[in-house]
Amino acid sequence: MPEYSICGEHYPLTPLQRDLLGQVRALGRERFAPRAAQCDRDAAFPFENYDDLRAAGLLGVCVPAAYGGRGADYATYALLAAEMGRHCGATALTFNMHVCSTLWSGPLADDLEMTPEQRAQHEANRRVHFARIVDGGALYAQPFSEGSAAAAGKAPFGTTAKKVDSGWLINGKKIFASLAGAADYYGVLCTEDKTEASVRDTLYIAVPGQAPGFSIVGDWDPLGMRGTVSRTLLMHDVFVEDDAQLMPRGVYYQAAARWPHMFFTLAPTYMGIAQAAYDFTVSYLRGEVPGTPPVKRRMYPTKQIAVAEMHIKLEQTRALFLRAIADARVDPGKEARLRVYAAQYTVMENANDLCRLAIRTCGGQAMLKSLPLERLYRDSRCGALMLPWTAELCLDRLGREALYESGEADA
Ligand SMILES: Cc1cc2nc3c(=O)[nH]c(=O)nc-3n(C[C@H](O)[C@H](O)[C@H](O)COP(=O)(O)OP(=O)(O)OC[C@H]3O[C@@H](n4cnc5c(N)ncnc54)[C@H](O)[C@@H]3O)c2cc1C
Repeated sequence: MPEYSICGEHYPLTPLQRDLLGQVRALGRERFAPRAAQCDRDAAFPFENYDDLRAAGLLGVCVPAAYGGRGADYATYALLAAEMGRHCGATALTFNMHVCSTLWSGPLADDLEMTPEQRAQHEANRRVHFARIVDGGALYAQPFSEGSAAAAGKAPFGTTAKKVDSGWLINGKKIFASLAGAADYYGVLCTEDKTEASVRDTLYIAVPGQAPGFSIVGDWDPLGMRGTVSRTLLMHDVFVEDDAQLMPRGVYYQAAARWPHMFFTLAPTYMGIAQAAYDFTVSYLRGEVPGTPPVKRRMYPTKQIAVAEMHIKLEQTRALFLRAIADARVDPGKEARLRVYAAQYTVMENANDLCRLAIRTCGGQAMLKSLPLERLYRDSRCGALMLPWTAELCLDRLGREALYESGEADA
């Protein structure tokens, strides 16, 4: 049976998108999918997959061409990340943390306002970071979460950066840091150490994994997305040079306010998982899953109705996903903002629901550990928990922003 494209046939792809999707698909099918079970079983980072991504020149996929990267834009990245998510959720989710470090400091930052001095500083800094990735094959992580209201965007980060001669001193703790121990640099969100600091004083700084005072602690034995190895980071008086800044002062705050789709980049992984659960179900009911007896179950009307329901849910999810990535831009209108919350909620919740339906429809033999479905089910459960746009916070934002215009309050 043919395997359908993640964006649906006849979707208008640019030559670069076609090329990258083909490359990721080949890697995913031939390399990542066969390794996924072991990474999951051992809760081990997929180092070999990253060797493949590095060899294929994909670590710099969103680094602008002027800096030696592949120059993929937001939408191109979202499509290829969804394709990757079909084959290994943990690889796609960690790849997201790495790629967003370049997407945000690259094309997104170009849309934001900076003073000429900030722009010049940013150009010089990102040249350093991009060269590490493109020439040195470095990996970047994105540890934002702290177990407080900060990662939800509701309070300043507890991790602080104090300005000192020629650099910064970082102190704090980050939880759920995907790529812990695998990344070369950790793009830490922190608050400038000054009196009366607010969320506007957020800084985005890359901390080297080898820096004195930086350590990784705690175990990692979660329900799903086990290959992300999202352990706890401690930073005690970690010194970083001035060029460690991934965005100038105040620019992360501006990005979060003006480029909201930057947070939707967690969704493509789960769009891929949703597709994988559907694909598995169709293959299983047709008796075509490798390694299982060629027993067909497709002739039962109940199975056909279940697949029809899954198909409808998958297409609804894909339609909103594709629309949201097409909406992505600086200063989107209110409708596009509300739509991207709806899209995030839909992708994250429907991915898990499609996996639930897949298990119910395929039956007991299909959820054995020897097959990918139970892993997809566990991985899919994590999507709705990802800050800043958990399923709950999407509802929260959607309801409030639909009913209130900016600045409005009740008496
Ligand atoms: C597999 C995996 C990988 C991850 N990788 C990373 C990573 O690389 N980097 C990173 O920074 N984080 C990462 N995270 C963390 C993730 O984004 C969340 O920060 C984490 O799951 C929060 O867990 P918590 O229990 O501390 O949430 P809490 O802050 O305790 O929140 C619990 C729930 O309450 C709700 N909530 C939170 N704040 C508010 C509020 N102000 N108002 C209303 N409701 C609220 C949310 O729905 C949230 O899910 C990862 C998580 C997982 C599961």
